[in-house]
Amino acid sequence: MDRADRHPTTPSLRRGASHTQGGERPSSAPLKLISPLAELPGVGPKRAQSLAARGLSTVEDLLFHLPARYQDWRERVPLAALRPGIVAVVEGTLQRVRERPMRGARWRRLVTATLVDDSGERLRLVWFNLPAYMSGRLPQGGRVAALGRVVEGADGQLEMAHPELAAPDSANGDPIRPIYRLPAGMNQRLFAKFVAHALEAAAGAVRGAIPEELRIARSIARPSEALEYLHRPPADADLAKLRSGRSPGHVALALDELFAFELAMCIERERMARRPGLELCGPSTLTGPFVKDLPFRLTRAQLRALDEIGDDLESSRQMNRILIGDVGSGKTAVAFWAALRAIESGAQAAIMAPTEILAEQHHRNFSRMCARLGVMAALLTGNVTGNDRQRLLRALSRGEIPIVFGTQALIQENVRLARLGLAVVDEQHRFGVFDRARLKSLGPGANVLMMTATPIPRSLAMTLLANLDVSILDELPPGRTPVATALFEECDLAAVHRIVREEIARGRRAYYVLPLIEEDSGDEAEEEPKSVSAMAARLREGELRGARIGVLHGRMRPAEKERAMREFRDGALDVLVSTTVVEVGVDVPEATVIVIVAAERYGLAQLHQLRGRVGRGRDASRCCLVVSAGADSPARQRLEVLVRCASGAEIAEEDLRMRGPGDLLGARQTGALPLRFARFINDVEMIAAAREMAETWLARDAALELPASAGARAAFKRMLEYGFSLADVG
Ligand code: ADP
Ligand code: MG
Repeated sequence: MDRADRHPTTPSLRRGASHTQGGERPSSAPLKLISPLAELPGVGPKRAQSLAARGLSTVEDLLFHLPARYQDWRERVPLAALRPGIVAVVEGTLQRVRERPMRGARWRRLVTATLVDDSGERLRLVWFNLPAYMSGRLPQGGRVAALGRVVEGADGQLEMAHPELAAPDSANGDPIRPIYRLPAGMNQRLFAKFVAHALEAAAGAVRGAIPEELRIARSIARPSEALEYLHRPPADADLAKLRSGRSPGHVALALDELFAFELAMCIERERMARRPGLELCGPSTLTGPFVKDLPFRLTRAQLRALDEIGDDLESSRQMNRILIGDVGSGKTAVAFWAALRAIESGAQAAIMAPTEILAEQHHRNFSRMCARLGVMAALLTGNVTGNDRQRLLRALSRGEIPIVFGTQALIQENVRLARLGLAVVDEQHRFGVFDRARLKSLGPGANVLMMTATPIPRSLAMTLLANLDVSILDELPPGRTPVATALFEECDLAAVHRIVREEIARGRRAYYVLPLIEEDSGDEAEEEPKSVSAMAARLREGELRGARIGVLHGRMRPAEKERAMREFRDGALDVLVSTTVVEVGVDVPEATVIVIVAAERYGLAQLHQLRGRVGRGRDASRCCLVVSAGADSPARQRLEVLVRCASGAEIAEEDLRMRGPGDLLGARQTGALPLRFARFINDVEMIAAAREMAETWLARDAALELPASAGARAAFKRMLEYGFSLADVG
């Protein structure tokens, strides 16, 4: 530990500091946004390290680390109303102030005091290691306000750990206090001091993306003002808005970022429109017979998609299209048609799926559906190794194999296709942007078709996918019976198991979906199981004894996962107990029940996706949504939407109405969108406004060359650094 202290892990920071300060403590160095936090007064190597562990390395990071909550020092919670876990301000007189050394730690002092409020209720205050600023400031018998988290002490009594104290009139402090997620070893007060310093020294340098003129015309706060507002709210700030992320400060930051995002989208779209793509316009020697031989008639929506894709393929510009269609809407047939269109035009096609089993399934379906067409299809997954792999790679690179199905293995460095005309990405949301970009690197000029079943409201699709062309399959093939969906209370789980038992007895299969892999506490016996392992054990011993039960979750090795899926598909298992990894889909027509435990924990879109695992065969299917005992009534109402609506589009709109775009975007953010403040997007109008501003500005200065575009240009570059340019394939 001593060594680490003497040799900080960030020697470069030290060097930078001593460079400007001649070895002095760099307290008066002019701070820049990019200055390392070690240059802030009061931040030594140790604190810099714990800040870094929170993801805070530079002054800019600190400025954009927004308060997690706000505490109103004007509020007072009566001691009688305290509950463990809440953070509250309480007021009373201090009594029984005691300070004593802590056992086993000579230099630490344990300080306790009792706060007594006007009604005579008492609360213990505890500090391990009293902050320096407070020593000698605990007036026995004095009146104070205390802010802190209420916890249950070892003796079962409530106590407040490490509260902050202030004079009861609060005249000394700000009435609305930000509460931050803190780095280890820092308290709110110290952290706020660092933030204040950063605000004063550097906030003025934060440059927004929105050009001044647009910003003023729309009365949007400057980013520096927004930061000031959020870190040090004025006394008259609307606390409710601050708490719900709707304050002017929140709006300004979200809009600024959205503006940069929309700018990047528009620019990318323009760039792509100019990128040449292979022109695929051969005679319909394959697509013609394919459509004729299909065992069904294509839906109008499918036909429309074929037209749109066909036009794109024929044109000399590269196709970048996304096909959005509900589970079961028939995206695969569209993809096969597009692949055949490429092949009959003399090019190759590649179809990438997120799992081996799905790639296999596509390969098998293609071989079956296109048997009479005599098109040779290959499968390339991680399982193809050694000589087989070499042979396959050689054939692909020579253009001898017209269509290849595969997993990520397809985009590995050494795969080359002689003449890739079309790359299809199925379940695109399961791939990172890097994967999708690499797919394109398989062949320059390749047209890209992405497919997703994630229902997304049109209003959001317009924005989020603005760099792509969109085809929507808004129609299911005829003759589908909707999956009968019902809510069950946790205590009725027995009824659910009975349904499953009956289905198994009729030779059908069932999924159970659970939120956890393993229960962490020992009291499994009392509660209904919430984990894969607990549920599987329970079913094996009890309700479904004798059934063949397998498990599937993200901590299993890929090969094990594939095996479980395969066994379930092939009927070697009756029941698959799984986490949500089962969401992307294999087609198991014999599966007729899906039980989703703790359904209230999931978003509607995800539940809909999960529900899509059943109802894929001729038999009527059921979806049992099991609601936890503790779920509140808004959660139950949300789930009712699934009972009512069968279509993904409808559900998506409903979800948007109930949750707001910020939540939806936030959920999508995982790995995809470079939006830090997405959660503050409160309505679709904000997105529309950002888009409109971006378009207005680009009409004026398409290359972002004007001096007034400097901020926009910088923000656009930052988007690129986030990997945005790669998002041009998704
Ligand atoms: P998804 O869009 O979820 O990928 P699939 O492409 O797997 O859906 O199609 C689901 C099922 O519907 C498949 O069995 C497929 O053969 C069938 N199908 C596709 N299009 C039609 C259609 N127009 N009429 C009837 N069945 C269809
Ligand atoms: Mg599919």
